[in-house]
Amino acid sequence: MVTVAVLGQQVAIGPTKLLINNEWVESVSSRRFATINPTTGEVICEVAEADAPDVDQAVQAARKAFSSGEWPKMSATRRGELLYKLADLIEQHIDELARLETLDNGKPLQDSLGDLQLVIACYRYYAGWADKVQGKTIPINGPYFCYTRHEPVGVVGQIIPWNFPLLMQAWKLAPALATGNTVVMKTAEQAPLSALRVGELIIEAGFPPGVVNILSGYGPTAGAAIARHMDIDKVAFTGSTEVGHLIMEASAKSNLKRVTLELGGKSPNIVFADADLHAAIAGAHNAIFFNQGQCCCAGSRLFVEEKCYDDFVARTVERAKRRIVGDPFDTTTEQGPQVDKDQFDRVLDYIESGRRGGAEMLCGGNQVGERGFFIAPTVFADVRDDMKIAQEEIFGPVMSIIKFKDIDEVIQRANATMYGLAAAVWTKDITKALAIANNVRAGTVWVNCYDVFDAAAPFGGFKQSGMGRELGEYGLQQYTEIKTVTIKL
Ligand code: NAP
Ligand code: MG
Repeated sequence: MVTVAVLGQQVAIGPTKLLINNEWVESVSSRRFATINPTTGEVICEVAEADAPDVDQAVQAARKAFSSGEWPKMSATRRGELLYKLADLIEQHIDELARLETLDNGKPLQDSLGDLQLVIACYRYYAGWADKVQGKTIPINGPYFCYTRHEPVGVVGQIIPWNFPLLMQAWKLAPALATGNTVVMKTAEQAPLSALRVGELIIEAGFPPGVVNILSGYGPTAGAAIARHMDIDKVAFTGSTEVGHLIMEASAKSNLKRVTLELGGKSPNIVFADADLHAAIAGAHNAIFFNQGQCCCAGSRLFVEEKCYDDFVARTVERAKRRIVGDPFDTTTEQGPQVDKDQFDRVLDYIESGRRGGAEMLCGGNQVGERGFFIAPTVFADVRDDMKIAQEEIFGPVMSIIKFKDIDEVIQRANATMYGLAAAVWTKDITKALAIANNVRAGTVWVNCYDVFDAAAPFGGFKQSGMGRELGEYGLQQYTEIKTVTIKL
C-alpha cells in the first residue's frame, strides 16, 4: 500500500481504481482525476474517473450477481455474517481509515474516529436484521391462503456526498445488502479514498463478485448515468436539494426506478429562556459548527427567546471565539478546513451576503491561515427570516441567531422554509418541548440535545429535505418490494 507523508503524518492510501466485479480496474476512458487535501490545497493522488461506460459495466456485474441468485438467494444468515465480518474488519483498521478520511475530507481526526464508531454500529445493526426481514400472513376472504414476501428491489444505484464519506457509505450499503440487493455506488469526487479502502475490506470479508461496485467520478457524468440507467431498479441519493430534483426527473424519464432522497436542510434550533443555558449554548455551538458546518441537519437557524437573547448571544460569541481551528491531525483541533475551494468560496459569499443584508457579524467572517480552506467560526446576530443566510443552506461554520417572543410565533417561523430535515428545542418545560416536537414539520426533533444518531433511529426529511427514511427498521422498507402470494385452498 502506498503511504504519503503529509503534515508530518504518514497516511496509507488504499486503492485508487474502480471496483467492479471484485476487481480493481482503470476506467474505460483511462481518465483520472486528482483528489485534494483540503488542509493544504495540494493534490493527494489521482483516482480513476468513472463515466457512463463504467457505470454500464458495474451495472452488468451487479445484475449478474443479482439474477444468478448468488446474493439474493444466499441464506440470510450468511449475508448477515458477511456484514458482521465487514464491521470487524473496519474495526481492525479503524485508525488507518480515520486518518485517510481526515486526509481527504479535512475533518478532525477525533471526528473521523467518531464517524467510524457509527459506521461499525451501522453494519452490525443491519447484519442483525438480515435474517429478520419477514412478511405477513393475511386472512383474506374466501378459500385462499395469502401471504407477503419482502424481496430485494434488485440492482441499486447509490450516490453519496463528501461530508461523511464512510458514514454515508455505511448508511446506504448496510440496509441494501442485508435485504439482498446488489449495489453500484458513486462516491463524491471531493473525498473518494476512504470508500475505496472499504471496497478492499469488502473483498477481504468474502462478498461475492458484483455485489458491491464502487465508482469514483463526477455527478453530471457518472452520477447522472446511474440516475437514468434503464437496468437500475432504485437510486438512493444524498446531497443537495437541487440535484435531488435532477435525480427524480431522470428516474421519471427513464424506467421509473424507485427513488429515495436525503437532501438539504435549514433546521431550526429553538432555545427558550427557561432552558439550561449552559447546555443550550454548548449544544447550539456543536449543532452548527460540528463537521465545519457541513451537515445536512446543522442547526442553522438558531431561534433564541427575547428574554435570554442578550446573555445567550454574548456567551455564544465567547464560545465561538474559543473554537480551535487548525491541523485536523492535531487531537486538540475542533475544526478543520472546508472540503474544497468551491465550498470555501461559497461559504465566504454567504458571509458577505449576511453582512450586506444588515445582520450583525459578531465574530469570524475571515479565512484562517494562508493555505487550505479554513474559515473562522462566524456568528451573525439579529438575523431576519427573509435574509439569504436564514433561508439557504450555507454548509459552513456560520451561525445565524434570530430573536423570537413566544411559542406560537416561533413554530410558525420555524416552519416557514421549504426544508424539513431536523429541529431541536431547549427547555425545561415538557409542554413546550412537546409543542415543538409535535408541530414543527421535520423528520427528526431533538429535545435538549442535538445530532444524536443511532443506527436504530430513522432519519430523513419532510418537504424538500427528502423522500423516504434511512436507518432503523424503516430504512429496510426502502430496499424491499412487497410481493403478495395468494393460494387457492
Ligand atoms: P451535490 O452536487 O448534491 O453532491 C452530492 C452527490 O451528488 C455527489 O456524489 C455528486 O457528485 C453527485 N451529483 C452531482 N450532480 C449530479 C447529477 N447531475 N446527477 C447525479 N449525481 C450528481 O452537492 P455538492 O455540489 O457537493 O455541494 C453543494 C451543496 O449541496 C452544499 O453546499 C450543501 O448545501 C449541499 N449538500 C448537502 C449534503 C447533505 O448531506 N444533504 C451533502 C453534500 C452537499 P460530485 O462528486 O461530482 O459532486
Ligand atoms: Mg479530497
